[in-house]
Amino acid sequence: MAVRWNCDRCKVSVGRLDGEGSALPGTWTLVDGVTYCLTCSRARAADAVLDALPETTSREDRFRFRRNALIAFELDRTPAAPDRVIAGACRTSPKTVAVVRDELNLPLHTAESTTPHPV
Ligand SMILES: [Zn+2]
Repeated sequence: MAVRWNCDRCKVSVGRLDGEGSALPGTWTLVDGVTYCLTCSRARAADAVLDALPETTSREDRFRFRRNALIAFELDRTPAAPDRVIAGACRTSPKTVAVVRDELNLPLHTAESTTPHPV
């Protein structure tokens, strides 16, 4: 519990207007005692992928890796969200989300299909 949560990266802060303590917002992440807002959590996930790419990676590939990292981040954060919602958050197409979801072997978990398929 804290009165205000501050993002360590962009310095945005959230808290209740009445000054009461509140839990970390569900969209924020807490890593090693450092808090990040959703926007920065996304950016960090994408940047981590870019940092791991060799210098020779083309701009097109960098764009693709960054986009896929964002999609993977959102899929991990909200696995039950439909492709079009993930696509909206990542500013891409639902089709692209479906491809990444497939590559990551993360089938869409909806409320209606909670029973895992036999392998
Ligand atoms: Zn932030």
